[in-house]
Amino acid sequence: MAQPVIAIDGPAASGKSTVAGLLAARLGVPYINTGNMYRAITRYALDSGTDLDTRCTDKIFTPLLNTLQLEYRKNISGTYKLYVNGVPEDNRLRSPEVAAYSSRVAALPAVRNWLKARQRGFAALGLIVMEGRDIGTVIFPDAAFKFFLTATPEERARRRLVQAGETFDGATLESVARDIADRDRLDSTRAIAPLKPAADAETVDTTKMTIDETVDYLAGRINDGRS
Ligand code: C5P
Repeated sequence: MAQPVIAIDGPAASGKSTVAGLLAARLGVPYINTGNMYRAITRYALDSGTDLDTRCTDKIFTPLLNTLQLEYRKNISGTYKLYVNGVPEDNRLRSPEVAAYSSRVAALPAVRNWLKARQRGFAALGLIVMEGRDIGTVIFPDAAFKFFLTATPEERARRRLVQAGETFDGATLESVARDIADRDRLDSTRAIAPLKPAADAETVDTTKMTIDETVDYLAGRINDGRS
């Protein structure tokens, strides 16, 4: 039986988070951003003084994860927000340093297994929009709807550059394109749950689409699928 999940996967800076959040709001269902969970673990490791250039290993992360609690709590507005050891996440998760290291942290089996169990637990909420890299392939292979959002590397670099605070000082279109390409390479070549469209996912190239057009398109496809 299909799981009540709208899975949205895709490469870095493809507009997934914005689109997934708006789509969930339109449908009146919870939105779970799994990238933030990887970012929260990365931030936590950095804050704990872990040198991620030399100590990004399962052995270092296993005890660290035992002291970490990640929860999505429902706000009064009805949206779900990530809490890290009881504290709401903030824009420290969006820093370019966290983004760069998160792809290395996300390649660790200990980290992926720890999150897999938690992410699957969200199915208990009923219909949800869940966004990431492996939602349609690994977390919910039987998701009712699966989309893979893409855009050209140039367009993704341009989108990332205009997102304040998400790039290193002095970043240029070229340097951002390089950072994104590095993350895409790490994400799509790792041994576990690599970034790729599920065989039954619909790929949507958003290069020439606005955010609203993309949300309209996905909502239309979901309505068609439900009727
Ligand atoms: O989507 P976002 O850029 O916030 O994700 C940060 C990183 O977390 C990605 O580069 C990727 O390495 C990792 N990630 C993942 N699987 C997911 C979501 C994110 O490996 N489902």
